[in-house]
Amino acid sequence: MAVIGFIGLGNMGGPMAKNLLKSGHTVYAFDLSQAALDEVVNAGGVAASDAAEACEQAEVVISMLPAGKHVQSVYQGEDGLLAQLAEGVLVLDASTIDAGTAREVASAAAERGIDFMDTPVSGGVAAAQAGTLAFMCGGSAEAFARARPILEAMGNGEKIFHAGPAGAGQVAKAANNMLLAIHMIGTCEALSMGAAHGLEPAVLSDIMKASSGNNWSLQVYNPWPDVMPDVPSSKDYQPGFMVDLMVKDLGLANKVADDADIKNTMGKLALSLYQDHQEQGNGQRDFSSILEQIRET
Ligand code: NAD
Repeated sequence: MAVIGFIGLGNMGGPMAKNLLKSGHTVYAFDLSQAALDEVVNAGGVAASDAAEACEQAEVVISMLPAGKHVQSVYQGEDGLLAQLAEGVLVLDASTIDAGTAREVASAAAERGIDFMDTPVSGGVAAAQAGTLAFMCGGSAEAFARARPILEAMGNGEKIFHAGPAGAGQVAKAANNMLLAIHMIGTCEALSMGAAHGLEPAVLSDIMKASSGNNWSLQVYNPWPDVMPDVPSSKDYQPGFMVDLMVKDLGLANKVADDADIKNTMGKLALSLYQDHQEQGNGQRDFSSILEQIRET
């Protein structure tokens, strides 16, 4: 069992830290929010007064922060962790951030003999709670081998992937979420078109699921209300996965594409549709609510 310093105990990090505790790891925890910290301490974590204190004895450091600027400040800012961690410590950043920042922090860490991996997740809050997250990891094979047993306490062993070198986890995450947005929008358009011509959305969904239009949105996350029980569309689009987070992830995906001079027409269109939807007050609703935009137009 490892001694772990965990920074960022929000909607995702809190349940992830609790699952590490359940597996018998020792967790020194820190968050700027006292309420978030208290939750993890009540589950057996040890409270630290700042990130450095949480990592003083750590063999492994895990962070789950909102965006790249937070990750950069925690590791490379004034009193940043990279200057304080012992050589040989393994750092796993599970935040969704831009691949460029992940590579930059990894390279600064390597100069100090610290193994830094980007390990963003897929699965959302429910999977974080259930300990069934998917992890996409960027870094060396040696770091991945060290990380795997730790990640298995928070994720599904069959969904823990070594995507490639530093930054590759973030690229994989960006690619996946861009494709998710595009097929969700396509699914909404296909269902709206069928319904406008008098087809039952449930029947059309079954036809497309059995045909070549089959995709994850149709299989487990149908965006048309009341086609499936217990999905956001049947619960007034309560998230689930918020439009705000999809806009963030599409912004990152388009940056990844631009950095490689990839045309990315569909990714850019998806971002602009989700931004319009967000601007109309839907930021906190589930991303499948994009159906309403399409039906209205
Ligand atoms: P959140 O806002 O609930 O949690 C972030 C936490 O980080 C907060 O508790 C905040 O106080 C803390 N924090 C910020 N700066 C800090 C600092 N300098 N030191 C210590 N703590 C600090 O966000 P979340 O939903 O848990 O998401 C975290 C990351 O996971 C994001 O990058 C997000 O894109 C990604 N993600 C989220 C989901 C989801 O469904 N929520 C799914 C997949 C990936």
